[in-house]
Amino acid sequence: MDDVVVVGGGIIGVATAYFLSKEGRKVRVIERDPAYKKASFPLSLGGFRRQFFQKENINLGKFALEFISNISNTLKTKKNPNPTASMVPNGYLLLFGPEHAKEQYEALKNHKACDAGTKNIPANKLKEIFNWVNPEGLETATYTDNKIEGWIDPHMFHNALKNKAIELGAKFEKGDVKKISDIKAKTIVSAAGCWTKELLGDIPVVPQKHTVFRVKCPKHYPEMPLTGDLPSGVYWRPEGKEYLAGSPNSKFDCPDLEPEWDDFENLVWPALANRVPEFEQLKLTGGWAGYYDCNTLDNNAIVGKHPKYENVFLATGFTGRGLMQSPGIGRGLTELIITGKYQTIDLSCFGIDRIFAKKKRTEPYVL
Ligand SMILES: Cc1cc2nc3c(=O)[nH]c(=O)nc-3n(C[C@H](O)[C@H](O)[C@H](O)COP(=O)(O)OP(=O)(O)OC[C@H]3O[C@@H](n4cnc5c(N)ncnc54)[C@H](O)[C@@H]3O)c2cc1C
Repeated sequence: MDDVVVVGGGIIGVATAYFLSKEGRKVRVIERDPAYKKASFPLSLGGFRRQFFQKENINLGKFALEFISNISNTLKTKKNPNPTASMVPNGYLLLFGPEHAKEQYEALKNHKACDAGTKNIPANKLKEIFNWVNPEGLETATYTDNKIEGWIDPHMFHNALKNKAIELGAKFEKGDVKKISDIKAKTIVSAAGCWTKELLGDIPVVPQKHTVFRVKCPKHYPEMPLTGDLPSGVYWRPEGKEYLAGSPNSKFDCPDLEPEWDDFENLVWPALANRVPEFEQLKLTGGWAGYYDCNTLDNNAIVGKHPKYENVFLATGFTGRGLMQSPGIGRGLTELIITGKYQTIDLSCFGIDRIFAKKKRTEPYVL
């Protein structure tokens, strides 16, 4: 019998394999597509932030920075002596209209309690800091400018975690797990992303297609933060000499990953040009789509021990933030598996009992 089997070698799977291996557990990771053609993490925007409503999500975002900043030491291996995640610490800027402002003022209390280091300004002062923004229709904005948020290269981060887990003894193999009961191990971790329901039918996590466009603009702002325009739901960030922009229109029941090209003209371009007048001159240069691992109950993570099994743990349902939460989730699951409870960030609010009781714990700031 195996010691630990992790089903799914995406970003949550490798982070969990790394932390468990560090504690001396013998981990086997089973991944059905080692080229990761449809996995969510390589198709993500790489963003990491602490600007959330709920304290647990704020704290997971804080730990992401701490972990990513140290990987040149912690994830160093013989094979990969200089690991990097290519961090771009441009910060985040979240823009709120009057419809979200009250909630955001509440969120700021949580930011303060967690010492998140975010800054808040009224919309009428926004142009003093970000001269490219049209503040019309906005009430308030929150941002960071001290290199504590930004984005990374998801593939490089995954690679660094995987290499270190392997050096610590983890084994990776190709395989498609059809049923959780086919696995014989002391501990099983389901890290199957948006495909979790195929393994654990009572977990309401399904693929939700989400399109990202690549655009070019004569005016380039390399220092621009990852900006989320909450009134339209559109978000964007610089990427090399171009920009990436996410559509607010996510779709269920899409077996293919063809981007929703019409969203660009109908939703994304108008919202971009409204908020950054220079974006009127955009040219579409490409795009792709990937699946969010959407928790249809409350858009929040589902993490912990599955109450119907002796030995099955799971982590899924990150709905657009699994990359940034992977270090905190890998560490937290390891604490739970080894000691029976969380030792650092208390993640019990993400437990599975709330799902069965249909008790929503909605995180409002999904981008
Ligand atoms: C367009 C887009 C933008 C995003 N932007 C961000 C962002 O900026 N920041 C952020 O933090 N997050 C972002 N996300 C979300 C993030 O990518 C996901 O939340 C995260 O990748 C989930 O990690 P995971 O390991 O659970 O799933 P995945 O990365 O999908 O990995 C799951 C793996 O499990 C394997 N698997 C599944 N079932 C089985 C089985 N039965 N047997 C064997 N293997 C199996 C799959 O092949 C897959 O490789 C974005 C997602 C998308 C699509």
